[in-house]
Amino acid sequence: MSFAESLDRHRRRHAIPASVPTIPLPAYAPAPLAPLPAARKRAFMAHLRAELDEAFGPARPRPRRAAGATPSAPPSAGAFIAAACATCRGACCANGGEHAYFDADAIRRQREARPELTRAALEASYAAALEGERHAGSCVFHGAAGCVLPREMRGNLCNSFLCSELQRGLDRAGAGPALLVAATEQTIRRVRLHRGA
Ligand code: SF4
Ligand code: SF4
Repeated sequence: MSFAESLDRHRRRHAIPASVPTIPLPAYAPAPLAPLPAARKRAFMAHLRAELDEAFGPARPRPRRAAGATPSAPPSAGAFIAAACATCRGACCANGGEHAYFDADAIRRQREARPELTRAALEASYAAALEGERHAGSCVFHGAAGCVLPREMRGNLCNSFLCSELQRGLDRAGAGPALLVAATEQTIRRVRLHRGA
């Protein structure tokens, strides 16, 4: 059955009107889950400590990257972005490796929001977050249900990045209803109806 036929069938089965646009997205093809190897944990912690050295060092005039929010999308797009990324399940996380796109600016952002945060507390939080199963070869925080870190603990890039497919989808659907389709060239992996805000 072709892509178009599969989607038509899905639309009929769920009575999705033709006015709801189809938004194609990348599709993460999950690698097997397994506890993180100790060497990968050590590598991330070494990266974290280097960034902590920088963040807790002499003050810099400005962060290298704007903190936190998604700059190219309005706040109302948050639910759309969350639904799209959950449908894709993190194709862009596959390159997160042992750095997780995490840097000193993400630490500065957290300390701005919570000045009481100590270096030891940050180290302990990230060390705890490394426990559990991860997709082999992907970011050290890429678990079965997506990123295991709460948004405030993620790198700034993780909180702001929109892949080109998602950006195009937002441009087309706004934050409104959309049929989100995560697919490779050969296979539709996941389909989700986003009902809008
Ligand atoms: S930004 Fe794009 S590639 Fe990354 S999880 Fe979201 S839909 Fe997938
Ligand atoms: S920290 Fe989370 S959002 Fe960022 S690359 Fe890793 S799994 Fe993806």
